[in-house]
Amino acid sequence: MTTTPQQDVRRGLTSASKFNITYSCPGSENILRDMPVVAVEEKEPESEDATTGTRLHAAWETDNTDNLSSDDLEIYKAGVDYKAKAVREWCEFYGITEYKEGQRELRLWMHDPATMKPVTSGMTDWHFISTGASAGHILIGDFKSLWCRSLTPAYMNWQIRVLVALMAMEYEGTASFRGVLVKPIAKGNRTDCVDYTPTDAWRAKEDILQSIWKSKQPDAQRVPGNHCNWCPAKGICAEAQAWALLPSVIAARGAQFSILNRPIAINPELAKPAELVSRMSLADCALVHSRATVIGKILDEVKYRLKKVPQDQLAELGYTLVSGRVTPYIENASACFRELSDELRLPIAAVWKAVKFNKGETVEQFMLEFGWGKKQAEGYWSQMVEKYGGNKQSDPMLEKL
Ligand code: SF4
Repeated sequence: MTTTPQQDVRRGLTSASKFNITYSCPGSENILRDMPVVAVEEKEPESEDATTGTRLHAAWETDNTDNLSSDDLEIYKAGVDYKAKAVREWCEFYGITEYKEGQRELRLWMHDPATMKPVTSGMTDWHFISTGASAGHILIGDFKSLWCRSLTPAYMNWQIRVLVALMAMEYEGTASFRGVLVKPIAKGNRTDCVDYTPTDAWRAKEDILQSIWKSKQPDAQRVPGNHCNWCPAKGICAEAQAWALLPSVIAARGAQFSILNRPIAINPELAKPAELVSRMSLADCALVHSRATVIGKILDEVKYRLKKVPQDQLAELGYTLVSGRVTPYIENASACFRELSDELRLPIAAVWKAVKFNKGETVEQFMLEFGWGKKQAEGYWSQMVEKYGGNKQSDPMLEKL
């Protein structure tokens, strides 16, 4: 088994990790299938967080930490510890004394009972099966490597639900299934779990099959919500755009209409963002903020697609592509340093205040000059920060309760 699939291992079908979208928005399957090829193929490059997640998952699967940076390594170790905690809690809850670990990264398939064609699949990061006198229980685990701020709790998580249903079909006669989300750096409960009886698992399977059937109907409804964040169609889906942008449209109307709801001349002052926002209720402000991620992602994808359009077509849309903004920077730092101190006679203490040891570049120099690996170079940089550095605190941030 490999962690770098050479083809679509999901065979173009919805899978456990995406099932929340299929369930919440049955119409998503139709729009994804009909999406223009350009929108499907020209995806933005993977984000830094996604690449980190991929590296960590590969390490958790193989126990090989060679490709991890020092920051990754801390998350990796915490993940291993919380996985052990999840196993301990499972054993205590069910009185399990013996167990074995099943195959990691195991992909299982669900088939349509009428046609026996595959309809969905799911892959467990890891799972354990109780044995001996305490046989009959299964623990299914999924690592969530980052902050998990918008992760659905285990008890209503569709990824877990699909994995449980698949396991119940694979291991008939099992008395209980526990699904656990292991979140090594998330706030709050880091081993969030849910228990399913065989009846729960059977109901979950029926619900999954029903959702898939619904999603295949030509009139399947598109239902926008937070799940649009993870839907590849969000850049072209009218429902998602209307849902995400509606509050700002309402805010703008507020500035254009009198209380009698009759159009009035637009006062440019009233159309300024600060004025628009000051007229919104606090509840609307919170609503707009909660949708900020979806709005941002839609705008990112819209910009990315527009930049790929040929100039003449872009001009028809009222745009043109200009060169990126140039940010001047000093490349020859040593010559600059000499000029400031020797010729301009700027006091050395003042010159040093202008010199910054940026993490990325300093680490790169360690690697280039000493042939160190990333882990070692970052480790040394961290020691330097401890000795000579400090911490800057950003402005207070809004966080979901
Ligand atoms: S973007 Fe949202 S509303 Fe549109 S298809 Fe995807 S999940 Fe459904």
